[in-house]
Amino acid sequence: MYDLIIIGAGPAGMTAAIYAARRKIDFLIISMDVGGQMTWSSEVKNYPGTNTLTGIELSNKFQEHMKEYKINVKSEEILKLSKKGKTCVVKTKQNKYESKAVIITTGKKPKKLGVPGEDKYLGKGVNYCATCDAPLFKGKIVAVAGGGNSGLEAVLFLAKYAKKVYLMEVNEKLGGEAYLRDKVLVDKKITVITGIKVEEILGKDFVNAIKTDKGGKKETIKVDGIFVEIGLITEASFTDVEKNKWGEIKLFRGTKTHNENLTSVPGIFAAGDCTDIPAKQIIAAAGEGCKAALASFDYILKK
Ligand SMILES: Cc1cc2nc3c(=O)[nH]c(=O)nc-3n(C[C@H](O)[C@H](O)[C@H](O)COP(=O)(O)OP(=O)(O)OC[C@H]3O[C@@H](n4cnc5c(N)ncnc54)[C@H](O)[C@@H]3O)c2cc1C
Repeated sequence: MYDLIIIGAGPAGMTAAIYAARRKIDFLIISMDVGGQMTWSSEVKNYPGTNTLTGIELSNKFQEHMKEYKINVKSEEILKLSKKGKTCVVKTKQNKYESKAVIITTGKKPKKLGVPGEDKYLGKGVNYCATCDAPLFKGKIVAVAGGGNSGLEAVLFLAKYAKKVYLMEVNEKLGGEAYLRDKVLVDKKITVITGIKVEEILGKDFVNAIKTDKGGKKETIKVDGIFVEIGLITEASFTDVEKNKWGEIKLFRGTKTHNENLTSVPGIFAAGDCTDIPAKQIIAAAGEGCKAALASFDYILKK
């Protein structure tokens, strides 16, 4: 029986873990990866005290900080979180863990296109993180599905490596911020196509083309890879705590100081992008991780 289990190791989870280690409570941090969405950012310019870093560099700083406290992240996926009496039960594929309290910090994950070939060619030309995988497409032709901020950032980053980049947006107009759209529209390596739908991803061992539909006109376009940048979904389906219509965990506030980041289930706390807070940012997630840790200590002490 642990005092606390922290689920997720993005900025929220890693911050909660540092606070837990400093309090010397018996805790576990479990996550599918370390760094979370932070590692997908090519440039973080708004984390105070660090000026400009890549997301991976900032994540490494969080990890170095965790090392000071000898914190090891257990690499497992949580499949189910439930409450049996006063005990929180966390199930992964391999193990079952029990604790007095849990902090959920599972953030968001990319939405899928849901077209044939997407799962088959995952990691073989189908990608969800331009920052991580753009260098693999040096001198190649790639498509990006999604013309919002993520898609715009992705094409600009890919254009540093690829020979040609298609930006494909299903709506008639690009979304995202104007300054990003302006950068995209003047980049000679980028071809923007709006009102187009990706219908299938084709290949042999690796992606070699995509089938598209533009207003009924079907076409097969030769590409070496495709990046799916159509938004994010909340990663909290493993728990039944109360959520809003976007699947984000609803946070409640207690009556006393530190009695924050409460979910609808006593003993289960939540922080960061998986919750209904409006600020989906690294600094906000880290702050929420701190608040949730402090609130969980109060709860554990009272137990
Ligand atoms: C492309 C991009 C660029 C961005 N740029 C910036 C920026 O410049 N500045 C800024 O402030 N913010 C930026 N953001 C937003 C910022 O990255 C997020 O707000 C922040 O990472 C949220 O932190 P989090 O800890 O709540 O969740 P996440 O970072 O999403 O971390 C969630 C963690 O939970 C783990 N996890 C999920 N499900 C499970 C499960 N079932 N079992 C075990 N582990 C699980 C994941 O593996 C991950 O480690 C950017 C986001 C994106 C996508």
